[in-house]
Amino acid sequence: MTTGQPRPPRSHRRRRNRLVLVVLALGAVAALVAVAVVVVPLVRPPGPRPLFQLPVACGETWQLGTYPGHDDYDVDLFPIEGQAWGRPVLASYGGTVTVAGVNGSLGGRTPQDPDGPRGRGGGYWVKIDHGGRWETQYLHLLEAPMVEVGQRVEQGQQIGKVGSTGNSGAPHLHYEQRRGWEKVEAHFDGAPSGITHDDTEYTVRRTSNNCVG
Ligand SMILES: [Zn+2]
Repeated sequence: MTTGQPRPPRSHRRRRNRLVLVVLALGAVAALVAVAVVVVPLVRPPGPRPLFQLPVACGETWQLGTYPGHDDYDVDLFPIEGQAWGRPVLASYGGTVTVAGVNGSLGGRTPQDPDGPRGRGGGYWVKIDHGGRWETQYLHLLEAPMVEVGQRVEQGQQIGKVGSTGNSGAPHLHYEQRRGWEKVEAHFDGAPSGITHDDTEYTVRRTSNNCVG
């Protein structure tokens, strides 16, 4: 043993090997936990569709519409009577608020200045997790949402007011229903909305049965 590096005593080497094994085992456990906590909930099949209601006041009739470039299944709601500004936006179904904030930028469109500077994105918005991987989204609200992230909301509970923040031409509610990874045709009171594609501009009318709040 006169040439080469002196080798560390065997016991040191064994201790180092044991340390490597412990680190590898911890890494494997962390990976398994990540899979269980993050991946499994995302790949499990969605639950049955909740009985969503129109996100506006009980008994009111609203026009639901879309236009080319909107996005398939996206619904824009306008009241057929009265001003849209400030109208109550209601939770379509019970759930937990997962987003309550600003998407993009607010811009400056208000009831006092309806043609003010246009913002970007969804403006003030709310997202609700209804369980079973079902979600709803409510965009362009007039003011900061009336709910907070983590808050439990009941069906029919007011979450905000109709406005024109973000990329919005006129006061209205942009609304979406999502199942798992994908947007789906919105259903209200158990019936499909009829807003299924954005190839052309078209509208339907629906009356709210969101009457339990
Ligand atoms: Zn829209």
